[in-house]
Amino acid sequence: MLTQLSFGRIAEGVLGIFFPSVCPVCAKPSDQPATSPICGVCWENMTRLPANKCSVCAKPLEVEGISKCGAKCGDCYAEKPLYSTVLAYARYCDVMKEAIHLFKFSGVRRLASPIAELFKSIDIPEADLIMPVPLTKKRLTQRGYNQSLLLAKAISDFTNIPLSYDILLKVKETPHQSNLRGTQRIQSLKNAFQAATSVKGKTIAVVDDVMTTGATLNECARALIKADAESVIGIVAARTVMD
Ligand SMILES: [Zn+2]
Ligand SMILES: [Zn+2]
Repeated sequence: MLTQLSFGRIAEGVLGIFFPSVCPVCAKPSDQPATSPICGVCWENMTRLPANKCSVCAKPLEVEGISKCGAKCGDCYAEKPLYSTVLAYARYCDVMKEAIHLFKFSGVRRLASPIAELFKSIDIPEADLIMPVPLTKKRLTQRGYNQSLLLAKAISDFTNIPLSYDILLKVKETPHQSNLRGTQRIQSLKNAFQAATSVKGKTIAVVDDVMTTGATLNECARALIKADAESVIGIVAARTVMD
């Protein structure tokens, strides 16, 4: 028969698996394990994207101060993306990279809330619907959840933008985008997304965890605009910045 003490130790051990008490970034005790394994100090030290960035794709710009006039990067000048703008919070490195790996690949779903809350400090433009970048049914079954849907739901909760998760669909399996170069990404994503119904005249916010080239967001925008969306804005927790 279990004594109260040994039961307590077992419970502590089980809790330790799901709510580790050591911050995975700095290895110091986590001060908020119920919300996030990452401690408050590391969370505060997250690397933000610079204010001086492309008004469309959020790529950092090298010339100081021009973002104030809604400047665009060379890529967006050369070919305007189908989305109108991207709100990106952090640079995809250090703390945010660790957080997204835990959130996406290690099943730490409770990180949806603290990651989404970062957007409380950013003005999110008005939108009629908020939706996640979808996964195919096969990938959803493998992972068990769509991390972008959890983020979209958490952002919907405090913005009151209605959440939709069954309009934008991913209908084609694509290779992991991180293994592909720019043109290969665009090619592999062709016809990967579809809108199940018309979204005539609607402004839609599409949420993803990480943006690298913007190819995924652009293809989501293509599918939604084909279904008569008025405009598409992206909301991403992190953006990769090529050095
Ligand atoms: Zn820490
Ligand atoms: Zn740009």
